[in-house]
Amino acid sequence: MDLYEHQARELFEEHGIAVPRAEVTDSPAKAREIARRLGGKTVVKAQVKVGGRGKAGGVRIAADPAAAYLTASQILGMDIKGHPVDTVMLAEPVDIESEFYVSYVLDRASGTFLAIASAEGGIDIEEAAATRPETVARVPVDPAEGVTPAKAAEIAEAAALPPETVDVLVRLWQVLVREDALLVEVNPLVRTRQGRVLALDGKVTLDDNARFRQTRWDDADAERADPLEARAAAKGLTYVKLDGEVGVIGNGAGLVMATLDVVACCGARPANFLDLGGGASAQVMADGLAVILSDPDVRSVLVNVFGGITACDKVADGIVRALDTVRLTKPLVVRLDGNNAERGRAVLADHAHPLVQQATTMDGAARRAARLATNA
Ligand code: GDP
Ligand code: MN
Repeated sequence: MDLYEHQARELFEEHGIAVPRAEVTDSPAKAREIARRLGGKTVVKAQVKVGGRGKAGGVRIAADPAAAYLTASQILGMDIKGHPVDTVMLAEPVDIESEFYVSYVLDRASGTFLAIASAEGGIDIEEAAATRPETVARVPVDPAEGVTPAKAAEIAEAAALPPETVDVLVRLWQVLVREDALLVEVNPLVRTRQGRVLALDGKVTLDDNARFRQTRWDDADAERADPLEARAAAKGLTYVKLDGEVGVIGNGAGLVMATLDVVACCGARPANFLDLGGGASAQVMADGLAVILSDPDVRSVLVNVFGGITACDKVADGIVRALDTVRLTKPLVVRLDGNNAERGRAVLADHAHPLVQQATTMDGAARRAARLATNA
């Protein structure tokens, strides 16, 4: 899960990284009050989980509390790259001397953590890395050793950052480790004319696999962008909403990904990714079907299961029992293959639900589901 800037800012502060004073609100009147508290002049910043807010007009300076009211009322309700703005953060303005970029990220390609840093901050780091790679330092970090002051000095030197940033680099690594993050990014990290080093913007991506021990974010799930995703998460399903019309259920992330591709090949678009995982019990199948059927965009559903450890007859039992609790309102195409496939198909054939049809191959099943979705 990605955090909002103000949440990242809070974590930075807790770990001893200096940040500007700031408060969040959803109302222009409160924005005016906050501006008064912060001393008059403020930076008003849209709180959306997407980068490039500055360029999109979502980061503006307000000269006084009256301007804060006006600016907040303009930014609230804006749409930044498809993200509606319902909260703004007002921050005390900072007298910037120079801007830097620093981040730690789990780099799956190299199988380790990377420190990425640049003395040219406030920039689009992907673009800088592509067009001027010499300005962006990439230093591998051994997770067992972490970022010691010596390691931090090595990173700072590689990126030509001033020595005052070393302490922040050490603390930022502690944020990553203690908060179970996969990414912590500060862009820009600034040095002020008074010589202070401050994190002016923050992005933190938490590792969802560690959420069980990071309970402070439990409520944040309730405000997930997509209500269906929130519902699926509450049921413990791995579900991602997509923008097509064929609902997809499968077992195993790889098979589900392949199924999405095959649906696309058949001229339709998948409405979601849903991995039942191992087991595929009746309850999990019922929960998955319930989520997918309540998506108004879905016009047909494709269940693609390859029985390995999970036997297909157990999956078929699961589907049949799920159909007792969930009212099927859209055509369901089922492809069962692998362990006990024949018995599984027989179970579904015996049940003879009018909206359920079977296919023996993945391609055949996807073709049928695609046709049902596009002609329906
Ligand atoms: P982003 O566009 O979403 O990355 O939003 P940022 O918070 O990084 O802000 C974009 C840019 O606005 C920064 O790179 C700074 O140059 C500028 N900025 C943000 N806060 C302040 C501030 O307090 N004072 C000044 N002078 N500039 C700021
Ligand atoms: Mn930024």
